[in-house]
Amino acid sequence: MSCLYAGYYVAELLRDLTDTGDPHPELFDVADQTLIALQGAHDLFCVVLRFEMTALRLLGHAPALRGCAACGESIELSGRVPFGQMAGGLLCPRCRPGQRQVVSLTADAVRVLQQFATGSLESWQEVAVDAKIRGELRGLMNQYLCNLLDHRPRMHQYLGLLGHAPE
Ligand SMILES: [Zn+2]
Repeated sequence: MSCLYAGYYVAELLRDLTDTGDPHPELFDVADQTLIALQGAHDLFCVVLRFEMTALRLLGHAPALRGCAACGESIELSGRVPFGQMAGGLLCPRCRPGQRQVVSLTADAVRVLQQFATGSLESWQEVAVDAKIRGELRGLMNQYLCNLLDHRPRMHQYLGLLGHAPE
């Protein structure tokens, strides 16, 4: 995974997530910062995940990571937690049955994702993410975006490599 492919991916998401003529100045600022960060010595996994989560938040598509996506009840983070791809986030035990495309996330992966979901521009740079969680979150985000966009972004084939620890 090179920063060039990550840059293509940012451009692809911007194009696919927004409608032509619909200005999102905040999102374009974030894209700009992301492209600059990609050229620096930053961790590509973190830069890409931060862009994805920020874009989703700004466009109103953020996954529910604190409460149940179906009923809003707060979710206890221990062991593994169900995440409904179609429901759009974590699911409580009551809402879990009958949901489609449910994956099971480790509580640690959810905690990492929560940090990337906040609006703070700085905190994401200090997040240490181990290789297992990288793989888990890339799989989750790739599927989440495929569902949202109704197609697989072309650059996802290269993002698989972000699942590995930085060299
Ligand atoms: Zn629920």
